[in-house]
Amino acid sequence: MVIFLDRSMKTLAFECTAHTFGVSVVSDKILSDIRYQYTNEEKGIIPNEAAEYIKKIREKALDEALKEAKVSIEDIDFFSISQGPGLPLSLYAGLNFVKELSLKYKKPLIGVNHLVGHLEIGKFLTKVKDPVFILATGANTQIIAFEGGKYRVFGECLTIGIGNALDKFGRTIGLGFPAGPKIEELAKKGSYVELPYVVKGMDVEFSGIVTRAGQLKDKESKEDLCFSLQETCFAMLTEVSERAMAHTGKKELLLIGGVAANQRLISMLETMCKERGCKFDVVPMKYSGDCGSQIGVQGLLEYKNEKFNSEEIKKLDIKPGWRVEEVDIDY
Ligand code: AMP
Ligand code: MG
Repeated sequence: MVIFLDRSMKTLAFECTAHTFGVSVVSDKILSDIRYQYTNEEKGIIPNEAAEYIKKIREKALDEALKEAKVSIEDIDFFSISQGPGLPLSLYAGLNFVKELSLKYKKPLIGVNHLVGHLEIGKFLTKVKDPVFILATGANTQIIAFEGGKYRVFGECLTIGIGNALDKFGRTIGLGFPAGPKIEELAKKGSYVELPYVVKGMDVEFSGIVTRAGQLKDKESKEDLCFSLQETCFAMLTEVSERAMAHTGKKELLLIGGVAANQRLISMLETMCKERGCKFDVVPMKYSGDCGSQIGVQGLLEYKNEKFNSEEIKKLDIKPGWRVEEVDIDY
């Protein structure tokens, strides 16, 4: 698949699956990218607070995205929105807002899959063509590749995403939220203590590791636990990525999602790919986390001259549990 975005089209795109509200204008390139993020230092994401935050910030974010792109809403060809997967209250806070805009300005609205948006912005911004993806976000950890006309999940962690696993452990040792970057810093001064290593085929399991690391918090230093947590979880991800590459025969690996900011994870994957003679790339850090741009890139790929239809727009609903295999890739 070659990514080609229609140069004449402009979409105004909204990301609202969890605690980030992102608004971007995207055409053949990213013209603006505005993000606001709800945080709750002690408790992580409280769904109704995140949704209230989105409602409070959405007008302001919209104005800023248009201003940064130097376009008016009349110049936009269509709207794109993350329809799922995600937290229902956040998804509604975004979708209801964009539905109103779509009806008011009589422009089409396309609902896209947030995770496929992560995959496609990764391809759009790097030189890989048909990689095995490691999707390492807060809520999701999946090894994905394109096969038989669809993105398919070859391996995953069903209980907790790698980012949330790091954040959860971070909370138990008082690092606040998000803890991923702080764990990375502390790990630089740590050494190894044994933690469970759980790989089953191409699936991984992080929850027991987080529990065990938490139990050791009064016995071992924060630095050692952070180091060991990273080494264990990232080695597991490296192992299953390698297995997926061997299984699919693909020669490229692309790391995407918020945890792609982690240099230790990058270096482990880089080493593995080098040893296999394969290409490795990482989505640029600025676009590794949730953002409107990923939704805009996906909207443009899926756009097929849709006409504005107010009845269809009114019926559009959120898809909180939407999986990548359920998305038809016909572009
Ligand atoms: P996303 O859900 O894709 O927006 O990614 C958010 C997740 O990325 C959070 O769980 C963060 O803790 C995690 N994260 C961000 N930066 C880093 C980092 N440097 N190392 C590890 N995890 C990170
Ligand atoms: Mg995400």
